[in-house]
Amino acid sequence: MTAHLNEIEKNFISELSPIASLQDLEELRKRYFGRKGIFNDLLDKLKKLSSEQKQKEGQALNAVKESLEKSLQSKLKQLEETQLRAELEKNREDWSLPAAPLLIGSSHPLTQILEEVMETFVSMGFSVAEGPEIETDENNFGALNIPPDHPARDMHDTFYIRGNPQHLMRTHTSPVQIRVMRSQKPPVRIIAPGRVYRHEAVDATHSSVFHQVEGLAVDENVSFADLKGTIALACQRLFGKNVQTRFRPSYFPFVEPGAEVDISCTICRQSQSNCPVCKGTGWIEMMGAGMVHPNVFQAVGYPPEITGFAFGMGIERIAMIRYGISDMRLFYENHLDFLSQF
Ligand SMILES: [Zn+2]
Repeated sequence: MTAHLNEIEKNFISELSPIASLQDLEELRKRYFGRKGIFNDLLDKLKKLSSEQKQKEGQALNAVKESLEKSLQSKLKQLEETQLRAELEKNREDWSLPAAPLLIGSSHPLTQILEEVMETFVSMGFSVAEGPEIETDENNFGALNIPPDHPARDMHDTFYIRGNPQHLMRTHTSPVQIRVMRSQKPPVRIIAPGRVYRHEAVDATHSSVFHQVEGLAVDENVSFADLKGTIALACQRLFGKNVQTRFRPSYFPFVEPGAEVDISCTICRQSQSNCPVCKGTGWIEMMGAGMVHPNVFQAVGYPPEITGFAFGMGIERIAMIRYGISDMRLFYENHLDFLSQF
């Protein structure tokens, strides 16, 4: 029987080594170790031997069987690994495919201009102050030297809050100046950016919601020259260093004296009689400005000898000039064709 075992072992090994598929391996396993396999056959024969022989032959049989099973297991492992590798190779991802395009958004043009204006004034020592969009009549008008029945109220087509006549949608960002002055002592140097509301018929240059930035500087001995210098420098930073500024006398209830500030036309550089932006005048209206009216200081409880200047400009107007946009409504319609140009 031992000789027979040697032969079985030799056969098994020579059959095992060329096997290349799991299926063939399984067939081999069945043939040797299956219920009707060679080893079960040998065990049956073993039962018929004497007990002395049984023990001796049995040990030899088991030793060979264990060794062959080990070889079978290692072959199985090897074949499984090969198969797995082949499958991975077959289903490999193609990293060379171009990726789906990533759409990168950008800030709204009004936000870009607003941020630029804020950066300009912050770099000149102003800090940013904000206030609510629903304001009291007192903050929006009264404290700004526009008492009830003052004709200047006609300049502001105001949205009032129904059932609450002392509240309204702020018509300018000036009430933020009132709030800041009522809450802190001079010196004050702020800019107030934000959304404002007017009851306007919407057209190419009017909207019922738009954006302003106002500035306020209060201290001892602030002069009109300080105002001019601040505005001239800010305009150069915003529109280019060759830009000139021009002050024309004007009226705003909360300043005295008051002025309209123009900048030299950045589109035609004052050289075209048919320029659509400056209409051939060479100048573009940019903002209102002036020295803070003593009545405003009185309303917020500042001492009478204090001095200050204020200015205010529309963000839409700056964006329209900067980008050559003729219709303000484009800013609010949110068409991607328009917005993606900025
Ligand atoms: Zn021009």
